Amino acid sequence: MQCPVCSADDVIEIHHVLPDDTEVTFFSCHKCEEKWWNEDGERLPLEEVLRRVRVG
Ligand SMILES: [Zn+2]
Repeated sequence: MQCPVCSADDVIEIHHVLPDDTEVTFFSCHKCEEKWWNEDGERLPLEEVLRRVRVG
């Protein structure tokens, strides 16, 4: 995975399963510290992740 902001390859990838059983991946860039979430290859807004965690 490449960082969408600075194009660095130095990106941490962490797999999560949310309380509603959807599988998402958390990415964090070492270089510019951008953080983002992905579900099925689509970027997931942080607000949506938090909403699902709260609901669960
Ligand atoms: Zn970056």
